[in-house]
Amino acid sequence: MSDIAALRQLCLSIHFPDDGAAQIDFNRPQGSQSASYFLSRGLTVSPELTPELHRSVRRVAERLRLDETPPCVILNDPTPNAFAVPCRDRQLVFALTSGLVRLLSTAELEFVIAHELGHHGLGFGSHREPKTPHATRAALAKSRAVELSADRAGLVGCRSLMAAASALIKQECGLSDSHVRFDIPAYVRQIQATKIPEAGLTWELEETHPPIPLRVHSLILFAETDRYLEVSGSPGQGRSKRSVDDELRQVLADRGGAENRRLHSKQVTFALAWLVATGGIDQTQEVAGEDGEDVAQKARDYISNFGPESGPRKVEESLRNLVDLGLGPVRTFFDELETRGQTASLRQSTIWQQLPSDLRQALDDGR
Ligand SMILES: [Zn+2]
Repeated sequence: MSDIAALRQLCLSIHFPDDGAAQIDFNRPQGSQSASYFLSRGLTVSPELTPELHRSVRRVAERLRLDETPPCVILNDPTPNAFAVPCRDRQLVFALTSGLVRLLSTAELEFVIAHELGHHGLGFGSHREPKTPHATRAALAKSRAVELSADRAGLVGCRSLMAAASALIKQECGLSDSHVRFDIPAYVRQIQATKIPEAGLTWELEETHPPIPLRVHSLILFAETDRYLEVSGSPGQGRSKRSVDDELRQVLADRGGAENRRLHSKQVTFALAWLVATGGIDQTQEVAGEDGEDVAQKARDYISNFGPESGPRKVEESLRNLVDLGLGPVRTFFDELETRGQTASLRQSTIWQQLPSDLRQALDDGR
């Protein structure tokens, strides 16, 4: 197995599934520039010139199942930052700023290095600009889930929850060891004691990265999984990864607050209404919207205005929107079908059979 395939496999075995990484076509070229272009921008880490940094990159690479030490470039920039570079030639290039190297300890830096390699392993997805506000929201939610997955790779690469958490906190506040005493239990108590009003949480939905307390919380949960214990070679038995993913999903839904829940239930309602109107499920089913209006009737009116072929198109669109929102809403949708006794009817319907197979697969993955 080539290097990158082993990294890919590891990342998919630990990732948070709402990141959509499993759907990314990993064999496509990832960027337009070559690796050497980026490596000429700064100092490339080597055993001769930067032995300690090179040892760190090599240690992380081994923990992430890479045979070769990937190229790392140091950029002269006082802002602590790091990023993975998608390259045309698919090399695992990543960059660290000098500000970051100065700020972090060896173990903390190894967390960041592994996080960036995690981005390579998860794949970079498409660069399509989302066209609607709804698609933008969904893309941002996916981006935040990708960060949580990359953090998991980070933890596997540094093997220290303490180092991972302090790396995140230092990057957030820019302060070094001489100013902050890293006491993770105290930090967790501080997170739990700070009750942010729901209105204050909706801003999170517009961000590409989750807030640091949430990233630390997510890592604490992941460190408890049997999967993490296994890949980090630790003894003992942990929680199932699935139960931790479910708990994390719940934490995210709660943080998104009422607005997220409203968006999700609206999409489930739409999908059901289009299925009723097109005969995908029992056509006498009632689907009530937010203010009690009959959404299935609205869907029927639409189809009689725009012609019978508009129905299947709307079914597909509404189911894709559900998949875009993540696994939570997809599960709610199937639960709702089950409650209505319609699961079998949907699967036997022509409309289901005619859905593109990638969409049917994505729905089944979320079940
Ligand atoms: Zn990242």
